[in-house]
Amino acid sequence: MKLYLESLGCARNQVDSETMIGRLKKAGWNLTDDPAEAETIVVNTCSFIEDAAQESIDVILELAEYKKEGTCNRLVVAGCLPERYREKILASLPEVDVFLGTGAYDQIVKAATEPKFTNQCLLPDPDLIADREKDSPRELILPHLAYLKIAEGCSKTCTYCIIPKLRGRLKSRLPADIISEARRLMAAQVKELVLVAQDTTAYGKDLSPPANLSRLVDDLAVIGADDQWGRAKPWIRVLYGHPESIEDSFIDTVASHPNLCPYFDIPIQHVSSDILKHMNRRYNQDELYRLFDRIRTQVPSAVLRTTIIVGFPGESDKDFNQLLKFIEDVQFDHLGVFIYSDSDDLFSHQLSGHIPDAVATGRYHELMSTQSGISSENNQKYIGKTIQILVEEFLESHLFAGRTKFQAPEVDGISYISIEQSPLELKIGSFADMRVTDAMEYDLMGVAV
Ligand code: SF4
Repeated sequence: MKLYLESLGCARNQVDSETMIGRLKKAGWNLTDDPAEAETIVVNTCSFIEDAAQESIDVILELAEYKKEGTCNRLVVAGCLPERYREKILASLPEVDVFLGTGAYDQIVKAATEPKFTNQCLLPDPDLIADREKDSPRELILPHLAYLKIAEGCSKTCTYCIIPKLRGRLKSRLPADIISEARRLMAAQVKELVLVAQDTTAYGKDLSPPANLSRLVDDLAVIGADDQWGRAKPWIRVLYGHPESIEDSFIDTVASHPNLCPYFDIPIQHVSSDILKHMNRRYNQDELYRLFDRIRTQVPSAVLRTTIIVGFPGESDKDFNQLLKFIEDVQFDHLGVFIYSDSDDLFSHQLSGHIPDAVATGRYHELMSTQSGISSENNQKYIGKTIQILVEEFLESHLFAGRTKFQAPEVDGISYISIEQSPLELKIGSFADMRVTDAMEYDLMGVAV
């Protein structure tokens, strides 16, 4: 029984894919890299924005061809695409045998295996599923890197975001369950744990008694520093903080443990008061300036990442110029820029003043070009320094790719490490020291020392 799984979308979706693979392997399925030899093909989809939904549909249609040409007799589509488009998706994609919404991942073995289970779209309420990852078998896509989901869903109501509809309200996992999964991952030689949720800094507010991200991260840092993991202590990184809920105690905790990456990923989306109000995000520009100042004061080695949306309905030239000035002032180490993506199931669709595509695209390029200068200059400071790297990929003879603590997986630049002295070799999934010899816009280059 061979199965091919394609995982699309974000890190949180990757955790769901890994959990489904764990269940399928336990049920006797073997994974293959070649869809042509698979009996069942699973696509775990994204539909966060229109482009992501279109990419999901393209991948489904491409893989559906193996039902005609290969050995595939079942095509299962899971995740956010069926959750967003509901039962009407059955008629639009007749090539698919079973659709599983975000709350139906636990039906994956049945969906992959039972021939009579067909022409179905399972959409249980994502808020009603039990604590999903408790002791679930899980198969990591990269053995040295594990995303650790600390909560599912989001209770905020940003007007441009579909996530609360797709994933339900905030549902935090119990600290003890997260800690026990983290121990298992560390024991399996994972070298980087990345804590994720839709809104990580809201973690624990829904529990009774409430839990707290700072305490959780502090506990994980202490466990990660234990000598039982040898000299190479795993890194711990936290992604997707929210400016409204990031606490001083969290910043202090990051400052006090060397195995916590001093990496602050805080999507601000915008800085103009009018736009923030229409986005339903409750902070202002002054508070944002103070927040990033505070982080840099409390954690001098802090690396800052944010994401922003341009072309949101009603964004005037004045609003955009405020945003541009803010980006120039704060000098983020990493910046993600997205063009507003409209859809008639979003509250923001009803706002007036939709921005023409050409204007939004022009603003996107202006911000990206500004950030490119900031990043290039910022990267120069690493030249001549020796930095710890997590080695991730063999590229060619004497050349590897990896990441530093200040480069998050998938979204930031990478580090190219060359080996000058043979017989020095680097092992994938291990740490190495690199002396930085050159810096590009987003990437670093250096030699292993
Ligand atoms: S906090 Fe994030 S996930 Fe929640 S609604 Fe806002 S943008 Fe969406």
